[in-house]
Amino acid sequence: NQDKFKQVIAHAKEYGYIFSSSEIYDGLSAVYDYGQNGVELKNNIKDYWWKSMTQLHQNIVGLDAAILMHPKTWKASGHVDAFNDPLIDNKDSKKRYRADVLVEDYVEKLEQKVQKEIKKAKKRFGDDFDEAQFVNTHPRVVKYRKRSKDILERLAKSLTDENLADVKALIEELEIACPATGSKNWTDVKQFNLMFGTKMGASSESASDLYLRPETAQGIFVNFSNVQKTGRMKIPFGIAQIGKAFRNEIVARQFIFRQREFEQMEMQFFVKPGEELKWFEYWKDQRQAWHDSLGLDKENYRFHDHDKLAHYANAATDIEFDFPFGFKELEGIHSRTDFDLKAHEELSGKKLQFYDHEDGKSYTPYVIETSIGLDRMFLAVFSAALQDETLDDGSSRTVLKLPSILAPVKVAVLPLLKRDGLPEIAEQIVEDLKWDFNVIYDEKDAVGRRYRRQDAAGTPFCVTVDHDSKTDNSVTIRYRDSMTQKRVKISELKSILEAELSY
Ligand code: ATP
Repeated sequence: NQDKFKQVIAHAKEYGYIFSSSEIYDGLSAVYDYGQNGVELKNNIKDYWWKSMTQLHQNIVGLDAAILMHPKTWKASGHVDAFNDPLIDNKDSKKRYRADVLVEDYVEKLEQKVQKEIKKAKKRFGDDFDEAQFVNTHPRVVKYRKRSKDILERLAKSLTDENLADVKALIEELEIACPATGSKNWTDVKQFNLMFGTKMGASSESASDLYLRPETAQGIFVNFSNVQKTGRMKIPFGIAQIGKAFRNEIVARQFIFRQREFEQMEMQFFVKPGEELKWFEYWKDQRQAWHDSLGLDKENYRFHDHDKLAHYANAATDIEFDFPFGFKELEGIHSRTDFDLKAHEELSGKKLQFYDHEDGKSYTPYVIETSIGLDRMFLAVFSAALQDETLDDGSSRTVLKLPSILAPVKVAVLPLLKRDGLPEIAEQIVEDLKWDFNVIYDEKDAVGRRYRRQDAAGTPFCVTVDHDSKTDNSVTIRYRDSMTQKRVKISELKSILEAELSY
C-alpha cells in the first residue's frame, strides 16, 4: 500500500520520529536519524525487549560487546567468504540490482495475479467461497503458484551451488526488464560482500583492516566463556545484546526497514546438544508471546518456516510482519547448532566449552538464536499504530495508537486557559509527575487542537486543568484511543497512570 507507506514516512518526519541522515546535505542513502520522539520510542522498545529477556529470565544475562572486533572473527563466522549478495548490472541503464530480488519481484507479480483471481472469485461466490479449495483447483491459479514455486526453487539452488551463470540465465528466460528503463540487456551476476571495511591504526603500513560488525551475535560467541565462567552460568543459559550492526545493502529502498546502519536485539541461548529443537520451539512461543503482549493485531503477524537453511542452521523460522509494503521478515529464530563456537575454537585455538558436572564431561553447546531488528520493530509498531479515523460527528482525526508502554510521551498536561492560575496548577502537576513519567506541558492553541496534536504524536493520556480544578482539586483525564474523559483527583493521578502503564 504505497499511500500508507508515504503517510508513515511523512508522519514520522512531521512528528520528530525519523529524519534522513545529514538531511541538509540531501541525506545519505539508507541511513536515518531518530528525532526527539523517535529516540524515546526506540529506547522504550529496547527496554521492553531487554527486560523481557534479562529481568524475566534468571538464566539470561546481558552483554555490550564492541562494534570493532578482531578480523579473524569474520573469517570464523563465514562472513568474509559467504556474506554476499548476487548483483547484476543493466548494461543500458547502468543501474545495479540484486539478482535474487529481481527474480523475487517477478514472483511477487505472479502472486498479485493470484490475489486478483481470489478477489474476483470472492465477489462472484460471496459467502459460499472456499478459498483453500479455489487455490487448489482453479487452473490459472494453480499454474501461477506452480510456476512461482519452480522459479524460487531454481533460484535457491543456483545460489546454494554458487551457479551465478544460472541466475543470469533465469533472469533472461523470465525476460525480466530493468525496473527503471525496461531494458533487458544484463551483465553477468557477481557476488558482492556486504561488510563495511575500515582501518585501525595511525600509519598506513601498520594499519590493519577491520570490519564494522554486520551482526551482533559474534560478540556474544567470542565472549561465551567469559560470561559463562564469571557469571557461573549453567546450561541452558542465554546472553542478550542490543547494538549497532552495519551492512552495505544494495537494494535499500524501504525506509528504515533496510538500512546500512541499524540496530539488532539478539539473544543466543546455549543448550545441550540434542535438546536444541525443544528449545527452538520454546523460543518460537516466547517470542510470539512477547509480540502479542504489545497488543498489536495478531493478523499483522505470520511465521515463515525456512525450507532452505543457512550453512550453520538445522531449523529456522522468520516472524513476518505486515508492513505497508507487505509481509516481510521482522525477526529470525535460528537453531545454529555448534557451528559458531566450533569455528571460533578452531581459529582461536581456545576452548569454548561447557563442563557438565553431572555428566563429568565437557561439550560444545548448541545455540538457539532470536534476532530482531530494532528499527524494523519500530517500523512495525509505528505503521500499525498510525490510523485515520472518522469520528461520530463526521470529522476525522489522525491518531498514532502506540502501545502506551512504548509511547515517547506518556502524559500531556494542558491548562484549559493561559490565565486564572490554571497554568500554575498544570505546571505543579508536571513537576510532580516528571519523576515517574515522560510528561510535557502544552498551553498553545485551543484545547481541541492540543488533543489532536497529542493524538497524532502518540501521547496516550492528556490531563486538562480547568476552573473547577481550583476548588475540587480534580482534573480531566482524556484517553487517546477511546477519546473518553474521566474526572479524577489530582492526588490520584500518579497511581492511575501507574496502573495504565504497568507491564
Ligand atoms: P533480510 O533477509 O531482510 O536481509 P536477514 O535474513 O539478512 O534479513 P538476519 O541476518 O537474520 O537478517 O538479521 C536479523 C534481523 O536483523 C532481521 O530479522 C532484521 O530484523 C534485522 N536486519 C537485518 N538487516 C537489516 C537492515 N539492513 N536494516 C534493518 N534491519 C535489518
